[in-house]
Amino acid sequence: MSFEPHLTKRFGIENSRKLEVARKHGAYSSLQKLFSMKPTDLIEEVKKSNLKGRGGAGFPTGMKWSFVPQNTGKPVYLCINADESEPGTFTDRYIIENDPHLLIEGIICGAWAIQCHTAYIYIRGEYANQFKMLNEALAEARAAGLVGKNIMGSGFDLEIWTHRGAGAYICGEETGLIESLEGKKGQPRIKPPFPAVEGLFGCPTIVNNVKTLAHVPWIVHNGGEAFAAIGTKDSTGSNIFGVSGHINNPGYWELPFGMHVPEFIEKYAKGVKGGKLKAFIPGGSSTPVLTAAETEDLYLTYESMMAHKTFLGTGGMIIMNDQTDMVKALKTLTHFYADESCGQCTPCREGTSWVDRILKRILAGEATTRELDMLVEIADNMEGRTICALAAACAMPVRSFVTKFRPDFEKYCKPAVYPAAAVS
Ligand code: NAD
Ligand code: SF4
Repeated sequence: MSFEPHLTKRFGIENSRKLEVARKHGAYSSLQKLFSMKPTDLIEEVKKSNLKGRGGAGFPTGMKWSFVPQNTGKPVYLCINADESEPGTFTDRYIIENDPHLLIEGIICGAWAIQCHTAYIYIRGEYANQFKMLNEALAEARAAGLVGKNIMGSGFDLEIWTHRGAGAYICGEETGLIESLEGKKGQPRIKPPFPAVEGLFGCPTIVNNVKTLAHVPWIVHNGGEAFAAIGTKDSTGSNIFGVSGHINNPGYWELPFGMHVPEFIEKYAKGVKGGKLKAFIPGGSSTPVLTAAETEDLYLTYESMMAHKTFLGTGGMIIMNDQTDMVKALKTLTHFYADESCGQCTPCREGTSWVDRILKRILAGEATTRELDMLVEIADNMEGRTICALAAACAMPVRSFVTKFRPDFEKYCKPAVYPAAAVS
């Protein structure tokens, strides 16, 4: 069956950002049906679709929406996570650049489902142009009665605000994002309570990624079962996959889930550049790295990644050729995590900078092979002991790089010298 893109269908149309053009090509056409649906029915459709969050964690969207408690007397908020900062990840920006009205339509659908009247788009500070584009699109939508009071005469009110981040990766973590929106330091909160129950200003809050919401108008039109029929049983619908690194054709493509990774590399990325494939990172730098051999039976699905003990994550793939120095590559990543740790948790604050310092010693030729074991030990002690996933996001690449590419690391190291056993 041929695949019709949902997210990128208006990309490439001249002036696709303009409301008039977007509407001519179908934007906001889901709203009439939306307002005739009960919010709970929409949640059921999204559950049936098995749409999973596209920000990286892959949590089922319909289930997340159903966690919002009803009739608490408190407002419900929707936060749109456009703080796309994961290394290797760059696809949300293209929705904003090419089709901001798709995102706004998706926000209206999501807000209807959870009966929210105020939504905040939290966009990374570096996306200055995209912030401007989004505000222009919102102004047009507001002027046309698609945002604000009584949308299309439905009686439903929704105000959408934009908020710029200031360059901190951790503000993409949903509770860091909420703290930042509240005007505080962007430091993650302990969960539970999950934001769905107690989020922004202590009220029920859903945080959804840009791409996740952009799928919803299609589901409103076509139903959850039609969405679930695309892709595989556990990885339904499509995603915008991005690829960067040592490849001939870096870029992004909307594809149904399920493509064989070697086929993707050849057909879309046009092959590995400057050598043979050495390493593959599936979805942003926080996911464990795979060797070339491990990619041979790897598919772009959540389940295939799990079977290979890694994650699909954001779908922002990074390709490394056989000329890559894995020590230098890992050092670049650990420097990033050490720099971006918010510092609240000792295993993260100390662990990220500790592994970064050990890698610096290794690269300087000052370390012994004992320090390679130490890197893995530190990584093991960082995971599962912190408030948010940043520590694990650093630990997983450290462990997988060192264990799978150990000879690369050993080349830099002196042999380990262990103290002689004490003789009594
Ligand atoms: P998570 O699995 O803890 O949570 C995922 C979502 O499900 C959250 O919204 C959470 O509130 C909700 N949830 C989970 N269990 C729940 C429950 N019992 N009740 C109510 N809600 C519940 O993951 P996370 O820490 O939010 O995200 C980590 C992921 O973020 C990583 O996999 C990484 O790939 C990704 N990431 C993406 C970017 C980016 O730029 N897109 C940047 C950094 C990290
Ligand atoms: Fe901050 Fe790291 Fe703890 Fe997350 S794990 S809260 S980034 S110190």
